[in-house]
Amino acid sequence: MTNILVLHTGGTIAMSQDATGAVSPTAENPLMAIQAQLAPTVHLQVEEAFNLPSPHITPTHMLQLATRIRAAEAAGIDGVVVTHGTDTLEETAFFLDLTLDSTIPVVVTGAMRSSNEVGADGSYNCVSAIRTAASPAARNKGCLVVMNDEVHTARFVTKTHTTNVATFRTPTFGPIGLVTKDGIRFFQELINQVACPITQVISPVFLLKAYAGMDGALFDALPADCAGLVIEALGAGNLPPATLPSVQRLLDRGVPIVLVSRCFNGVAEGFYDYPGGGAQLQRMGVIFCQGLNGQKARIKLIVGLSAGKSGKELAAYVDNAIS
Ligand code: ASP
Repeated sequence: MTNILVLHTGGTIAMSQDATGAVSPTAENPLMAIQAQLAPTVHLQVEEAFNLPSPHITPTHMLQLATRIRAAEAAGIDGVVVTHGTDTLEETAFFLDLTLDSTIPVVVTGAMRSSNEVGADGSYNCVSAIRTAASPAARNKGCLVVMNDEVHTARFVTKTHTTNVATFRTPTFGPIGLVTKDGIRFFQELINQVACPITQVISPVFLLKAYAGMDGALFDALPADCAGLVIEALGAGNLPPATLPSVQRLLDRGVPIVLVSRCFNGVAEGFYDYPGGGAQLQRMGVIFCQGLNGQKARIKLIVGLSAGKSGKELAAYVDNAIS
């Protein structure tokens, strides 16, 4: 028997639509009776951790999930599935990926259509996620995201469409596996990563997006207790020059600033050497984070700060360098 813990947290996968078209949480999670669709060798232990739309999920909820999963693994569970709203699913999945040192599969899934809509994808995705969590091939792969017959790494997957069921994509690299009728097929080797377990979450950590003509107003408006900042910068990692005095003031206050690109593909690198160019930002002490989007880089900065990292150690942790 393969024992799988299913942790429901809410989201559209646990919602239904009324006659006016409005979508909202239901009292009884429609996924509670999914056992009938699974192989008899799979035994489910189902818990409702929360019943929240995912815009209500915070890093504190993510830490609660990580704590529950760690306890379940210690108690001998064979795999874990987390059902989650899709809006912040990639952030929770990446938080689990960073903080858990699990060898068992941990799989996050959701749905784009509520349970009573035509073509609802919730039950199907949930069954696919359970099959993945029960697959020995999914062990030692960190946290995975299974949606729409594809297996993605939590590290690089992102939501790319507001409503399409094929919304979850991995820019640059693609999915690492497929859910087929026969089983779960993996076709990419993964980068190993050392887990960073935490017992608290530091806040507030902010995320700002750069734009043409940006000045320092938003940077100057950050509160005195700002613990960290991620900037989605322009192109290869550049900022408009009018932001520089404010960026320097934050660095002088000791606020760690992490920079990613607002581009969908590629990595941020500091090679432009003009006012506001990445080379100058790196010399100022801005940390370049390679290959993560802004919301993922923010999760990584929160985890690094929450683990007590600072200075060069924090920069080395957050820069996400692959080699
Ligand atoms: N707004 C919903 C949520 O993230 C969307 C979804 O679940 O797909 O909770």
